[in-house]
Amino acid sequence: MEKERVIIIGSGPAGLTAALYTGRAQLNPLVITGAQIGGQIAITHEVENYPGFWNAEQTPTGPELVEVMQKQAEHFGARFEYDEVTEVDFSKGAPFTIKTYGKEYQADAVIVTVGASPRHLGIPGEEAFIGRGVSYCGTCDGFFFRGKDVVVVGGGDSAMEEGLFLTKFANKVEVVHRRDELRAGTSLKKRAFANEKISFVWDTVIEEIQGNGVVQGIQTRNLKTGETQKMDTDGVFIFIGHFPNSKFLEGQLAMDEEGYVITDERYRTSIPGIYAAGEIQDAHFRQIATSVGQGCGAAMELEKWLAEQE
Ligand code: NAP
Repeated sequence: MEKERVIIIGSGPAGLTAALYTGRAQLNPLVITGAQIGGQIAITHEVENYPGFWNAEQTPTGPELVEVMQKQAEHFGARFEYDEVTEVDFSKGAPFTIKTYGKEYQADAVIVTVGASPRHLGIPGEEAFIGRGVSYCGTCDGFFFRGKDVVVVGGGDSAMEEGLFLTKFANKVEVVHRRDELRAGTSLKKRAFANEKISFVWDTVIEEIQGNGVVQGIQTRNLKTGETQKMDTDGVFIFIGHFPNSKFLEGQLAMDEEGYVITDERYRTSIPGIYAAGEIQDAHFRQIATSVGQGCGAAMELEKWLAEQE
């Protein structure tokens, strides 16, 4: 059993910022990174909207941003353990128990920043073709679709951003959206409509992903006419929102019906001494800038709480 003052579970923008702030507060935090340091920004190609990290020649990539954020946190004393949390026991109050695949820890206070993961469509063929044409990350897999035709599912900012990215590789990007109006913001919408490689299939859902070893096509249904159709494609990129990574927290922290951890305006969870920040408690904004702010707030509150306990 290893005893820690502060454990931060997760290493996305919220976790890395919480590490920086608790580090600077001399709390010697330990960050348990999860499967991928940086979380979702680690698989983001270009970060255009995080203030202060931009120049006209080159927009920073997600991994570049993660690297500088980690270095900054380490400079102020944060330590990183590359492991995943499998189980926690917050029920007896501090010190709290946290188990990973490799170790068991006790911590006086905890910040949970485990974020969210892409939602699946749940249709036949989807699971079978993951990695063989079905993808949830254009940045990761776009390269493999050079000169090919792909379909993007969804009408939000993610679908437009990733669809635009995919035009760098694919011949053709067809956006299949269940309504006749996009949810995405004006700027991304404008860029998507202006891009010659992008076309739209409105009011339509995918019923099945088909292929033979790899994706070869989809069956669609028009929700207004009921008409079904087969469409040839080499790839299906799915961007239909996210679900919170809170399975291991069930029964430990109060959550809403979707599994997002409930916090108050000071990032306090239902257990004193446990804080939550970033997408695990915010399904609304989901921006690097907002997650950074939330991680900062949670760390400041935790610092105050620990001081009060002494
Ligand atoms: P989102 O805004 O929730 O959009 C999800 C899209 O998927 C919607 O168009 C939705 O259709 C569609 N959808 C949901 N379930 C579906 C299903 N079962 N079958 C077919 N289509 C389905 O998710 P997001 O695009 O991932 O964005 C999440 C948040 O992150 C948003 O707040 C967004 O602004 C933000 N974000 C911002 C940026 C940026 O600013 N650069 C980039 C990415 C994300 P309906 O429209 O009909 O509901």
